Amino acid sequence: MSAPDDDLDALIAEALHDVRQRLAALQERLDVIRAARAGANDDDEHDPEGSTLSTEWSRAEGQRADAEKELADLDVALERRRAGSYGICVSCGQPIPIERLRLRPAAVLCVPCASRL
Ligand SMILES: [Zn+2]
Repeated sequence: MSAPDDDLDALIAEALHDVRQRLAALQERLDVIRAARAGANDDDEHDPEGSTLSTEWSRAEGQRADAEKELADLDVALERRRAGSYGICVSCGQPIPIERLRLRPAAVLCVPCASRL
């Protein structure tokens, strides 16, 4: 079953919008933590508040890395959309079901290939 074209465009556009919003929020969060750390005692290891901030920082950094990866994947999806290869499994060449693309608009593999690789 193939989806109408604007459906796919909307899907990618929406995912891009989401991930950009998430990135902006995470950047803000990192700025807040950075400011808090700058104001906190330098002696991180013996300062309970300092070590909480370090943990927070690592988590937010990790989430930002994930979001950036997702953004890069969506850029690839856009490229493939322009090239007319979006929604085609890069491994087996079969169409990726729309249900999967709805869940993961940046998916480049169909489910059987994704679980095999
Ligand atoms: Zn496949």
